[in-house]
Amino acid sequence: MSARLIDGKVASEAVRASVAAEVARLSAEHGLVPGLAVVLVGDDPASAAYVRSKGKQTVAAGMRSFEHRLPATASQDEVLAIVAQLNADPAVHGILVQLPVPKQIDPHAVILAIDPMKDVDGLHPLSAGLLASGLPGLVPCTPLGCLYMAKTVHPSLAGMEAVVVGRSNLVGKPVAQLLLRENATVTVAHSQTRDLPAVCRRADLLVAAVGKPGMIRGDWIKPGATVIDVGINRVPTQDGKGRLTGDVAFDEAVQVAGAVTPVPGGVGLMTVAFLLVNTLRAACAAAGLPAPN
Ligand code: NDP
Repeated sequence: MSARLIDGKVASEAVRASVAAEVARLSAEHGLVPGLAVVLVGDDPASAAYVRSKGKQTVAAGMRSFEHRLPATASQDEVLAIVAQLNADPAVHGILVQLPVPKQIDPHAVILAIDPMKDVDGLHPLSAGLLASGLPGLVPCTPLGCLYMAKTVHPSLAGMEAVVVGRSNLVGKPVAQLLLRENATVTVAHSQTRDLPAVCRRADLLVAAVGKPGMIRGDWIKPGATVIDVGINRVPTQDGKGRLTGDVAFDEAVQVAGAVTPVPGGVGLMTVAFLLVNTLRAACAAAGLPAPN
């Protein structure tokens, strides 16, 4: 048996195309151009590459992109001053501070300072609280991408047994909340979970967000299950370049699962696509327009 691949390239292109169409309509009908500001502190090459890619895709969708770069030595007050300036700027509808930030800066203080209306990363406690309360608000991008991919296989998740491995505020918890909102029966597993393979084997829908390459083995997967692999791990290779791999042992999973997301080319591509969706939603909310679908 070979699992169906849930292609992140195809899915993310579809999401970005629908955002671009909606941005064009908003601009023509309301003169509204959504704007996304990204703040990068320091010169971590991976973070810089993410920021470049976000900027490019923002512009490609017809939105405005604002980039603010600070040196690795920047103080927390300097970062907070930029956030305050962006909060007050009506051309900026979404603010993202690229994490991680250098250690002299408290990421929680920075997240708390972002206007929740502009919190396109969905990490502000107000956004998390709205999600947990089942109220509309901005939801973290990667979990939205996971849900979108799961729904390409299962348009309704109602009643499904879902297991989420990982409970971070960025991925695991919001994924679990979204699945609950879709009426799945959700188990959240973590590093203290007893007999994790048995817990995973219960899942019709298994989401892995752990950060351990290949940890979820083929015999942890229920035959026919849908597997969403959020993990992005760089593992060493002989040529020294390293390669990206997920939290799921992919070669084993394809033999057992009904559908699986690849790494790379899976969930990772959805994150920026949903950042654009969130920026569009934030712009509509700021203008008092209905949220796009
Ligand atoms: P965190 O390190 O914040 O959280 C990892 C979670 O996995 C924790 O809840 C931890 O449990 C759990 N965990 C760790 N070891 C085990 C274990 N042996 N058994 C069971 N659970 C375990 O990571 P993130 O949530 O931020 O990211 C997870 C992965 O997703 C990473 O590979 C990251 O690179 C990737 N990622 C991908 C994104 C994308 O765009 N596709 C975006 C964000 C992240 P405990 O709470 O008990 O410590």
